[in-house]
Formats: sequence, structure tokens, C-alpha cells
Amino acid sequence: MSADRAADLGVAVTPLIRDNAGAWDIAGEVPRDLLRKLAGEGLFCAEVPADHGGLGFSSQENGRLTAHIGSLCSSLRSVMTSHGMAAWTVQRLGDRHQRAAYLPLFTGGELAAVGFSEPNAGSDLSAMTASLTPDGDHVIVDGDKKWVTAAAYADHLIIFARHGTGAAAVVVPASAPGVTIEPVPQPMGCRAAGHATVKLRGVRVPATALLGGGDMPLPLLVTTALSYGRISVAWGCVGILRACLDVCTAHARTRRQFGRLLAEHQLVARHLAELLVSERTATLACERASHCWDTGSSEMVIATVLAKHVGAREAAQGAAAAVQVMASAGAQDGHVVARAYRDAKLMEIIEGTNELCQVILSQHALAR
Ligand code: FAD
Repeated sequence: MSADRAADLGVAVTPLIRDNAGAWDIAGEVPRDLLRKLAGEGLFCAEVPADHGGLGFSSQENGRLTAHIGSLCSSLRSVMTSHGMAAWTVQRLGDRHQRAAYLPLFTGGELAAVGFSEPNAGSDLSAMTASLTPDGDHVIVDGDKKWVTAAAYADHLIIFARHGTGAAAVVVPASAPGVTIEPVPQPMGCRAAGHATVKLRGVRVPATALLGGGDMPLPLLVTTALSYGRISVAWGCVGILRACLDVCTAHARTRRQFGRLLAEHQLVARHLAELLVSERTATLACERASHCWDTGSSEMVIATVLAKHVGAREAAQGAAAAVQVMASAGAQDGHVVARAYRDAKLMEIIEGTNELCQVILSQHALAR
């Protein structure tokens, strides 16, 4: 399937997503059939190569698709990010047999989520205590994972845990005995993204589910998986900004106060200018990071952290400005800017908080 065809598929479901995103947000759920359909079109992990049933997108192409979905519904985009991160983790950490076993499931409509965070290991993932214990030709998975995006919808969970002298990522069926998935009650934003706490108690899976055989350095595993999550979130933030810009400019062109269009009040126009600057800034940072991915640049990891940081910061500021421009017209649950405001704030927390991104960027600055 060509990139254009996939972009068309993204556009084909646009009205359905746009018209229902507000209701899904309020209900806290996206219909599973739709998620499976989109995943089954390969759209949730579009960079998977064609020989594993994927669309073989470049990072740049996948980014444009992610921004488009993100402009419609951040919950759905979050599910897409988690699923794509799961596929990327298998692609990068799995061996030939594991890629052949799992990737066709992910491009065929089965849904996946990724669990790193634990009650006592948030920003500091080195505090992770979940464990993988060998048991013959099986491993036993034990631990608690929190706020796992899309876990409430998932058929497969990629769980990061201690293994041997290092760590490993293991593929766990969500239906395996010993797995409990409890939705996060009333999340502040991305309310339909299926965030859940995942408890694993003596879960027995074949040792072949240990990606790459396991016993790898934890920082390597985490950086590999999180880099995909970060660039995906960053492009999603571009989408949030585009949605805000569209709705605010339309409103400012038509609503009159003090005998003039809102757009003619300079303080309102300044908000619109700043929104445009945010959208362009975030887009450029994402395009630069995706260029690094597509060319295999050594700057890929840092360019991705930068794009995620800029995207999240600009989306949070931009969405706040958008609510200000819309005022009471946007100050209701279900409205595009109200949703954007809550969703964008969470982008400053996931895949490395603003502060953690700044720590990484400052270390890079000092090392130059
Ligand atoms: P803490 O680590 O307790 O941090 C609290 C505050 O202290 C933050 O402001 C932080 O920046 C600051 N801080 C901490 N350490 C430092 C430091 N060294 N220097 C400066 N400031 C510091 N996890 C998953 O595993 N999978 C998922 O799919 C997933 N999805 C998520 C989706 C959402 C919407 C949210 C909110 C979270 C998700 N998470 C997920 C969890 C997420 O990764 C963590 O919330 C995040 O890493 C921060 O950890 P914490 O919440 O425990 O905050």
C-alpha cells in the first residue's frame, strides 16, 4: 500500500473522528471496533515495513499522519502512539522470529500498549522493580505498571522489567492469567485513551516472548522505546495546535464585540499570531527530528527530545491561548479547545516530563 493510499485512509475516517471526538472524550471511550479497524489498516504503526504487513512509512510521513489524527482526537492519537511504540519496540529489540511473529498481529488489528512506569518509578525509571524470573522455557512476570496508555483496549502488553543483570521487554497477552487491568478513573485529559494500571502477578509467558533474549541495559531499552513515543507525541502536539488555530481563526473572523470583529482587536490578534508561531515552531522541530530518523542521524535521540519538549510546551501554551480567544464559546466539555487545553497539559508529563526533557537537553548543551 502506498503512502498516499494510507493518507487517504486517514482522511477517509476524518469526519467520523472529528464528529465524535468530543463525545468519546466525555464517555471516556473510543469504540474498539474503530480502533481495531484503523490498526488493521496499519495506520497505528505505519512505519512497520511491508514485509510485516505494514505501510513502510518514513518518520516524516508517519508524523504527518500522526499530526492529522492528533488534530482530530488526542485520545485516539494516544492509542496510536502506544501501539506504534509497541511495534517499534518489537522492530528494534526483537529478533527475526519475534518480528515475524508479532508485527503482523499489530498491523492486522490487534492492539498493543507499553508499560514502563511504576508507582515508585516515574521520571526515575532506574527505580523500576518489576521482574522477569526464568522458569524452564518460560519466564514469570511480576510487578505493577501505572498509567499505561491504551492498556484498557490492548490485546498485548509490552512490559519493561528487571531481567538477569540488566532488563528486558517482554510481550505479555493482556488476557494471560495473573494480569489485571484497571482503568485510571476520570483522567484529566485524553480521557478516551484507555489509561490503566496494570498488575502482573506470577504471569507465565514463553521465554520466546523476551525481546532479543533479554538481559539488556535498561537505559538502552528505555531510550529505544521512548524515542518513538516522544516523536509521536510531538507530532500529536502539532495536531493539537492546528486544531486550535483553525477554530480560533474561524471564530475571530466572525464574532463581533465593541462593533468590530474579534480579529480586529489587537490583543486577540496577538493570541492568533502566537498560536501560529507555536504551530510553526513545533512543526519545524518535528520535521527536523523526523529528518534525523529518516537519515539515521546521530542527532536522532536529542532532536526527538527537543521536538517533544517544544511540541508539548507550545501545545500547552497554545491551547491555553485558544481557550482565551474562544472564551465562553469554548469553555465547555466537548469543545475542541476545552479538550485541547486538558489534553495538551498531559503532553508536558508523558514520555519524559518538561523538566526531564530540560535535564537531557542541558546535558547535551554542556557536552557540546
Ligand atoms: P514524578 O517522577 O514523581 O515527577 C513529579 C515532578 O517532579 C515532575 O514535575 C517531574 O518533572 C519532577 N522531577 C522528577 N525528577 C526530576 C529531576 N531529576 N529533575 C527535575 N524535575 C524532576 N507510563 C507508561 O509506562 N506507559 C504509558 O503509556 C504512559 N502513558 C501516560 C499517559 C499520561 C497521560 C500520563 C499522565 C502518564 C503516562 N505514563 C505512562 C506515566 C508517565 O510516564 C509518568 O507520569 C512520567 O514519567 C512522570 O512520572 P510521575 O508521574 O511519577 O512524576
